[in-house]
Amino acid sequence: METDDAYRTLGLSSSASDAELKASWRKLVAMWHPDRNPATDAVQRMQAINTAYQHIRLVREGKLDESSTGGEADTHTANSHASTEPPNDHGAADATHGTPHRATVLRKVRLTLEEACLGCTRTVRGQHSQTCDTCAGTGLRVLAHACPTCKGKGAIRKATLFGWAWTEEACPDCGGDGRQRAPCDVCDATGTQTIAYRRKVRIPAGTRVGQVLSAPPARHSDVDVDLELHVAIDPHPLFTLDDNGVLRCEMPVNGYAWMAGSWTDVPTPDGLQHMRLTRDALVYRLAGKGFPTTLDGPRGDFFVRVAPVFPPLEDPRHAALLAQLVEATTQAAQAEDHHPLAQWAQRMANWQRK
Ligand SMILES: [Zn+2]
Ligand SMILES: [Zn+2]
Repeated sequence: METDDAYRTLGLSSSASDAELKASWRKLVAMWHPDRNPATDAVQRMQAINTAYQHIRLVREGKLDESSTGGEADTHTANSHASTEPPNDHGAADATHGTPHRATVLRKVRLTLEEACLGCTRTVRGQHSQTCDTCAGTGLRVLAHACPTCKGKGAIRKATLFGWAWTEEACPDCGGDGRQRAPCDVCDATGTQTIAYRRKVRIPAGTRVGQVLSAPPARHSDVDVDLELHVAIDPHPLFTLDDNGVLRCEMPVNGYAWMAGSWTDVPTPDGLQHMRLTRDALVYRLAGKGFPTTLDGPRGDFFVRVAPVFPPLEDPRHAALLAQLVEATTQAAQAEDHHPLAQWAQRMANWQRK
């Protein structure tokens, strides 16, 4: 919920004092309480009022960091099986604390390619708001005791204007069922329960995009929270992971170094790896350095494709060095009978002689 919307719901501006906030909330709750208001959307309105009130309180108490809620984009699914049932309609209404409250929290978790490849431990935390199970969002609990206002009758007698007759009216304090109400202590009478959760989750090695990981359930603020993590992997500046789970890297290399068979450093998910370039070879397979083939399984192979680039020989000394190399290698080749260059020179000479 946006904070602006929350204030609007309560008919306040953000400069309202805490006392004004509370007063406005009380007034609206009295107006929209489904026990008193027969309107079809009373429950909905009541929940909106409570959510808004709870939201503003959290913001004011600094417990709701608004910037963080946008960051790891949590999707909260309120599942309250109990909220579809009438509140505590079991007679022994006080014994509500033993009922298990559950919530399923859906979250996105962003990993680097290295974290997904090697596995990691993540601390996942956030806040999850849902309709209070205990009071079904009304903010009030129905007690087993008789309502003191109507003495359990559900109606009160009122004298008519002229005092010579009585009319019966539904009791304003119990809504007509004759049972006493008390503010719900689970949600602090707000109708909304906010659960702050914080969990260490192990991400297995080889976790892929779109994978759904479920953390073992844990209890936070008296609610069993099932955490469902939807994995996203950030694009990597150096590697690509293809749809078959093959990890690849394309890197430019100095063409002269490639020709010379020099050693070079190759990035891998574990860090830099020393690799010897081989003249003419463009693709190199690093066994066991790739992405795991199964969750927590053995690592696959890592493929490195090199793109030899030849730095320009703008410096005359570099050009001279290369000319020297050409000269020396040509001579060496001519001296070898079976060298293709020597054979070619021989064929050209024979042709010219004709
Ligand atoms: Zn009553
Ligand atoms: Zn409650």
